[in-house]
Amino acid sequence: MIELPEATTIARQINAELQGKRIAEGNRGSSPHKFAFYNLLPEEYAAILKGKTIGEATVNGSCILVSIEPGHTLILGTGGERIVYHRSAASLPKKHQFFLHFTDATYLTVTVQGWGAALLLRQSEVAGHRFVNLEKPSPLSDDFTTDYFLGLFAALEKDDSSSVKFFMISKPGVLGVGNGCLQDILWRAKVHPRRRAVDLTKAEQRRLYAALRESLQKMVEGGGRDSDYDLYDHPGGYRRVLHSKVVGQPCSRCSAPIEKASYLGGAVYFCPKCQT
Ligand SMILES: [Zn+2]
Repeated sequence: MIELPEATTIARQINAELQGKRIAEGNRGSSPHKFAFYNLLPEEYAAILKGKTIGEATVNGSCILVSIEPGHTLILGTGGERIVYHRSAASLPKKHQFFLHFTDATYLTVTVQGWGAALLLRQSEVAGHRFVNLEKPSPLSDDFTTDYFLGLFAALEKDDSSSVKFFMISKPGVLGVGNGCLQDILWRAKVHPRRRAVDLTKAEQRRLYAALRESLQKMVEGGGRDSDYDLYDHPGGYRRVLHSKVVGQPCSRCSAPIEKASYLGGAVYFCPKCQT
């Protein structure tokens, strides 16, 4: 699933590779997919995309907002989209859910894995769209300060029963952080995913802040996590600390065997000894 590090990587690659390219034809995909979400009819996608030019790509959380000039914005990256650039037709997949053919005979395809979306909005519709959140600061921005993060904890009711996992990825949530990025963040912070958020000490809150920033920075610098793919269909260079293949293996910090549990609609991986 695309989260902030992958969205940032792909947006950067779109700006370097695709910006300025003219769309000869585009459509919302050759293959029906139960969990691929669109906002317009196929013929409307085709009519809007034809003759338009790729503008700048920006990131909002895990969403990639690609300017389709003039006047429109393509939103990708809300889920498990595989967004791939093709230098020729030779590497085109048979099935895809979104397709652009550029006038220089290069292509962009989006195939949805699990679920995902390719929305084509008018630029004026972007700010109010439910996938877009312009209120929260990006966790890597200067506005995402220690005070801001500690303020989120301070706003919790004393009897709030939500866990750190819920706090980080749902409510209040950190923009662009989902269950994927979360695992290494909590490992670095030495915090257990099931711990009640309201019980974290100030020192632990600060440690979590530092771990969040450090982990996301490393993931962005690596070009995304090794579980996911970039615009060139290459896996990201950030090697995850915790994932399914290390279950039962010794924690690299304390040697206790790594555990896995199902929790809040997704697997969590943790060290039962040093994450408390
Ligand atoms: Zn450990």
